[in-house]
Amino acid sequence: MPNRDVIELVAALADAGRRPAALERLAARCSAEALLVFGEEPETATLTPLCGTRSTIPTGPSWRALLMAARTPGVHRRDVTWPGRAAPVQAVAYGSPGLALVFLGPEDAPELADDLLPLLPLLAAMFRAEQRADALNGQLAVAREDAHRAENLAHSLGQVRAVLEQQANTLSEARIEAEGAIRAKDEFLAMLSHELRNPLSPIITGLHLLRMKQGPSHELMVVERQARQLMRLVDDLLDISRITRGKVRLNKVTHELGTTIARAIEMASPMLEEKHQTLDVAVPEQGFLIDGDPDRLAQVFSNLLINAAKYNSRNGRVSVIAEAAPDEVVVRMRDTGIGIAPDMLDRIFTPFTQQSQSLARSGGGLGLGLAIAKNLVELHGGTLRAASDGLGNGSEFAVALPLGPAPALVENERKEPDVSVDAPETTPPARLRLLVVDDNEDAASLLGETLTALGHEVRTAYDGPSALQLAEQFEFDAAVLDIGLPVMDGYELAQRLRARLHPPRRVRFIALTGYAQPADVERSLAAGFDHHLVKPVRVKELQALLHAHDG
Ligand code: ADP
Repeated sequence: MPNRDVIELVAALADAGRRPAALERLAARCSAEALLVFGEEPETATLTPLCGTRSTIPTGPSWRALLMAARTPGVHRRDVTWPGRAAPVQAVAYGSPGLALVFLGPEDAPELADDLLPLLPLLAAMFRAEQRADALNGQLAVAREDAHRAENLAHSLGQVRAVLEQQANTLSEARIEAEGAIRAKDEFLAMLSHELRNPLSPIITGLHLLRMKQGPSHELMVVERQARQLMRLVDDLLDISRITRGKVRLNKVTHELGTTIARAIEMASPMLEEKHQTLDVAVPEQGFLIDGDPDRLAQVFSNLLINAAKYNSRNGRVSVIAEAAPDEVVVRMRDTGIGIAPDMLDRIFTPFTQQSQSLARSGGGLGLGLAIAKNLVELHGGTLRAASDGLGNGSEFAVALPLGPAPALVENERKEPDVSVDAPETTPPARLRLLVVDDNEDAASLLGETLTALGHEVRTAYDGPSALQLAEQFEFDAAVLDIGLPVMDGYELAQRLRARLHPPRRVRFIALTGYAQPADVERSLAAGFDHHLVKPVRVKELQALLHAHDG
């Protein structure tokens, strides 16, 4: 049975707080100079001083031999070196698995062996538990620290997220604002170009009339050319605003591309002639059937040809070549003009983008023509590309368009309309009674005068109610009605006029508006109009309709 005194000392050894005092007392109990406690490191399986005991690790062969021996349960003696002692000191080690108590210089060690040895396994177990608890506490501290760090990180992330959210909100507000501004700009552009077109129509009609009455003069031709240029700019603005709002609709028919190109050449020829330029054409009249909008394609080619003439010198050359490629036709328009800098080749298709102002800008322009042309070609499933060997080396614009169905399948090939805007023919075969209604008084009276000059009997009114009143005494054969009228619009006026026909008779109703979309045309026809004309009215076209009526 172990000595009670020793049991208490060993119990105190197990308690980390009481350990140093217990060590001293146990050493004194054996008359030893010092007591060292070694425990086994679980990871390295070596004996090292335990926490709360002398922590200096004794070294040297004598100690290594002693600790090696102490791995075997029992009492082991050996002389070991000890700091401050010249001669070796006797050491007695009490060994047990995982634990060794080493007394230095004891006198009564054997007497303690019986008491101490049975308690060592218990002490070793307690030390191991303490080691584990320490390790767990260490891990806990690390885990706590990690948790703290994670908390800080989460807090920082939260702050970053809040900032990002705020930025995203600001951005989305800015985007909404910008989209609103762009929409407002597009609507303004659409409205502006429409409003600009309105007064231009009577100006051009008036110029026609003047030319008819007085014959052509230099001044008249200058004014007319400028008015037409203004009209082209306004048309470009109107087109680009339709494109940006996705409102362009194509009137597709299967037709020969050759005729459309011939029409475009006719449209561009005044500019080519003015600059004494030579035009080489290698386009077969037939063989390239296209499913497309002839008006829009003529607009594309005439635009490219006008550019080829505009950005070219006097006496320069322009050529148009159409070539077959698998499933498509490629039309190349080459010129010997100012050329295009490499960095501008793609950019010139962006709206309002032009090469440096120092380069020729003889014909003016807003920088919209190519953007419109590219869009129209792409709406046809084709491509428009620019090439140039650089400034001064001319340019080439290539339009590739998918070929339409094989000729045998074509049913609705249509005859190209006459696009000439020359002075109208002089006298129609018959004198008609015509009612003209437009709230733009200048437009109404100019059109009235033009038609009168053509030999018709014309009455004009500026709104629906006065037109209805006029119609009480005036038996008209045809009515040309503006759609955007105040009080009652042209649709309603046409219906009311038709309802008042006594006796009901064949009268032709012609709508006259600034809107040329298929939906606008459909709406006019649905409202009972026979024809839909877009301002500025082409006198020749109107006359053709009136002649058809006559016939
Ligand atoms: P605009 O002719 O009204 O400026 P476009 O969109 O038709 O507008 O052309 C944009 C720009 O591309 C022109 O200003 C011109 O700098 C350049 N460009 C177009 N066609 C040619 C060409 N054939 N040769 C040289 N530069 C051209």
